[in-house]
Amino acid sequence: APRALSLLGLGDMGAALGHAWLDAGHPLTVWNRTAGKARPLAAKGATVAPTAADAVAAADLVVVCLLDDASVDQVLAGTDISGKDLVNLTTGTPGEARARAAWAAERGARLLDGGIMAVPPMIGVPDSGAYVFYSGPKEVFEAHRETLAVPAGAVHVGEDAGMAALHDVALLSAMLGMMSGMAHAYALFRREKTPPARLAGPLADWVAGMAASYARELAEHLECGDYTRDVTSNLAMMVRANATLLRTAEEQGVGTELLEPYMRLMERRLAEGHAAEGTAGVVDLLLR
Ligand code: NDP
Repeated sequence: APRALSLLGLGDMGAALGHAWLDAGHPLTVWNRTAGKARPLAAKGATVAPTAADAVAAADLVVVCLLDDASVDQVLAGTDISGKDLVNLTTGTPGEARARAAWAAERGARLLDGGIMAVPPMIGVPDSGAYVFYSGPKEVFEAHRETLAVPAGAVHVGEDAGMAALHDVALLSAMLGMMSGMAHAYALFRREKTPPARLAGPLADWVAGMAASYARELAEHLECGDYTRDVTSNLAMMVRANATLLRTAEEQGVGTELLEPYMRLMERRLAEGHAAEGTAGVVDLLLR
């Protein structure tokens, strides 16, 4: 039978999670600071707890999905989490997750930290591609795997509580690079009569195609330490090509502020004598 659980935090994401568990027949107790947000879930059969402490007391598996780490502190203060398995789906840093795991252990609870790689409309939708990175004790993950896999795929990435947040933030950080690259690409087109939609297909295909081989190349170079191995485009060539990107931006009247920070790092690595490498050296330049 589907297992009972409690869910604290019914914002856009928390509510989506709650609906998915209810739809799958899980007995669910919910709590939210603004009580009205529990109404649609109550209509579907959720039990609404009057306080966070009541919600925690109602089940052995307690899921929190709140704004940030400070709100987790506020909500769980004054609740008794001893003996509970706590799953924190609130986005935070690896350090916050590790501190929260120690905090939970001091109070007799076991913590799984989760990083949700999806937006609310993808939650509970089969084959939407939604998944959650989990980290913390593997046995806790295994004990709840079926329940956790209801709203989205469940992927365990380490016993260290910080690993889920590290994966989550690494992916989001890479997405920022993609977004800034695309912003520049569309800006180049903006000066022309060509509709932006013309660029969408080639852009998506190009970035997706490059991403797979590039992610692997970086990992291989960083692991073996030889950043020249099987390089298809070397740093010297790429830095020369940057000049064309900059001249084109100039011609099109487009600012280069999104491109330049990365170009400066490529130039620095080249100046340090690494012409034959790929771009893995840039990773090392970032380490403080
Ligand atoms: P919302 O802003 O929709 O909801 C925030 C929730 O936190 C609400 O339940 C809110 O309660 C509660 N909250 C905030 N501050 C406090 C506080 N001091 N005390 C008690 N409750 C508080 O955010 P989401 O639901 O979208 O996001 C929740 C988490 O999920 C975040 O960590 C977010 O990063 C993560 N996430 C969200 C994604 C998304 O696309 N939405 C994607 C991936 C992860 P109230 O209703 O009373 O304001």
